[in-house]
Amino acid sequence: MQYPNLYIHVPFCLRKCNYCAFYSVSADPEKYAGAWLDKISQQLMRDTQKLQNLKTVYFGGGTPSILPLPILKQLFKTIQTHCNFDQFPEISMEANPETVTPELAETVAGFVNRISMGVQSFKPTLREAVGRHTGSPDMVENAVKYWKMAGIDNIGLDLLYALPGETLADFQADLDHAVSLPIRHLSCYSIIPEEGTPFYQTGYEPDDELSADMWELAGDILARHNMPRYEISNYAAPEFRAKHNWNIWHGEPYLGLGPSAASFDGTDRWTEVPSLEKWLTGTPPEVDKIDRATRLREIFLMGLRTVEGWAPGEFEKATGASADFPVLPTLVNQGWLIKKDGAIRPTEKGLNFWNEIGVDLLD
Ligand code: SF4
Repeated sequence: MQYPNLYIHVPFCLRKCNYCAFYSVSADPEKYAGAWLDKISQQLMRDTQKLQNLKTVYFGGGTPSILPLPILKQLFKTIQTHCNFDQFPEISMEANPETVTPELAETVAGFVNRISMGVQSFKPTLREAVGRHTGSPDMVENAVKYWKMAGIDNIGLDLLYALPGETLADFQADLDHAVSLPIRHLSCYSIIPEEGTPFYQTGYEPDDELSADMWELAGDILARHNMPRYEISNYAAPEFRAKHNWNIWHGEPYLGLGPSAASFDGTDRWTEVPSLEKWLTGTPPEVDKIDRATRLREIFLMGLRTVEGWAPGEFEKATGASADFPVLPTLVNQGWLIKKDGAIRPTEKGLNFWNEIGVDLLD
């Protein structure tokens, strides 16, 4: 079994943001990153035969950019030693603008060719409203400059919207600010109060109508800047789409290493334990075994997150099964999907109501 996509979870952050449900610890990476790297290296060696035709590598977190430089260098070297790559692999890393220095950018650019930086909002009061303490406009601008100087052109930013107290004009200002920078990709997510986070305890609920207006505004503004929407929350010209995510949305296998990382082998999905200590001491992953019919519908639904949905024969090639689900005519009649010349894609309304499509498809 070959995995064309590799994900590595870096479970360290400077401090925890109030809204964040991703697994990370605000521990000193100098203290714990060595043990984390040893375990990742052992697993890369164990799985080397499965990683011989990599199309994408994604360093996510957490905050990969707070890893000490020697650890980063060793990590890159280990991957280069134990994996083989497709001709033009996409190698992405998430970064926090606060941590980016010219030295870090240079080290990272020796291996990575795509950067994704969390900004959330350029407006300090909006960032504070969700307990995000980093990412001032100056830091973001400097970080973009350092990546560019190091030779990385494919830079993306993440924004959040529908934050407490945010107006449509505030979000427009964030979008305008983002597109004024030399970036290639933007992700815009509506804030979700996730259970178990301090932000959830505030009882805040985003206004659905305002969220929908912001989603439309993002589509309009970014299309005018050559970054059309290509997935529910992602915007870029075709050549700068995030290939790692694109492949995963279209049913390709991926191997995830690190605490809380998820993997998929085309049939089963499994998730590593979301605890650095337990992961280090060998707690096995939790396997999500579901019947094949449900898995096929799940894969089909993921592809409908993208504006192009499924090209003719693409679903069949990815899964070996037919995409002829009995519910499709209903979804087409509801105006959520378009079926044409063997391709199936969501309408704009379908993208906006993707969760509803999921309910109908998985029911
Ligand atoms: S949002 Fe990003 S920086 Fe903040 S805690 Fe979560 S992973 Fe860390």
